[in-house]
Amino acid sequence: MPIKRTRFAPSPTGLMHVGNAFAALQCQHWALSNDAELLLRIEDIDFTRCRPEYTQTIIEDLQWLGITWHGKIRQQSQHLTCYQQALSKLQQLELIYPCFCTRSQIQQEIKSMASAPHSDDMHDPYPGICRNIPIIKRQQRMQHEAFAWRLDVKKACQTLHQSIYWLDEQGNQYHVQAETLGDIVVARKDIAISYHLAVIVDDALQGISHIIRGEDLRSSTPIHRLLQTLLGLPAPTYQHHRLMMDSHGNRLAKRNQSTTLKSLREAGMSPQILRNFLMSKDATWPFAYDSSASAIVQQLGRRT
Ligand code: GLU
Repeated sequence: MPIKRTRFAPSPTGLMHVGNAFAALQCQHWALSNDAELLLRIEDIDFTRCRPEYTQTIIEDLQWLGITWHGKIRQQSQHLTCYQQALSKLQQLELIYPCFCTRSQIQQEIKSMASAPHSDDMHDPYPGICRNIPIIKRQQRMQHEAFAWRLDVKKACQTLHQSIYWLDEQGNQYHVQAETLGDIVVARKDIAISYHLAVIVDDALQGISHIIRGEDLRSSTPIHRLLQTLLGLPAPTYQHHRLMMDSHGNRLAKRNQSTTLKSLREAGMSPQILRNFLMSKDATWPFAYDSSASAIVQQLGRRT
């Protein structure tokens, strides 16, 4: 029987909060229930936002929470050449093109498109401004302008003679309407790589058979399956777990400064109580996302 393997893959762009603890526990629970290995990967390619001190604290938080992982931690910033190779392969396949657009140019173009009068530019696919720039012009601009690389998704789909889908653990098939994804960025202007590319390369290199991650990443799964298919990488099984909400129905998230695990740890929280609480069926966080750690500890339970 092939080894079953999953991974927890936090990005050290801030301290872990209770929602991240819930996600890590979901991965661990799946691994324990399936006699599978759990790996830890630190997704720190975005040097504009990631910090080594966050990585250190994430490791301490996970240890405190009782999460153990198999083998060495993979740190993406140490493996940039792997992602460059994948990018080169897409380039050789002539499926990517440089995109010089700024965010505001893209927004303006979307607004001006008659077919999208009320479009929400955050979710609209890239309108293709740079897709058909003639090669000479493209090369000239590449000399002196910053650019991202985008996948020409329509062209990519035409080269594939198979339908793309992903499977969940129950064997349900989800077909990917790749044409609707828009030309996704496979290498950002600022960091020369993208989350999507790094993730699929690592999942393949680490032999990840099952991906257990939050609902917030469901929309990335079709993109990952498209990239895997283009690069000839194996297809893992995907399972998207619910997200942990606070007492007002807000999502626990770094950007709204949810209570951190570090602060709970320092306030004397019992990790066992926190684990049991988060793993109890249908649990929601009975506090506001930004409640003080000491108030939470007082109510939930102190380490004895
Ligand atoms: N690094 C991503 C995050 O922290 C998770 C990536 C994944 O699970 O595919 O949201």
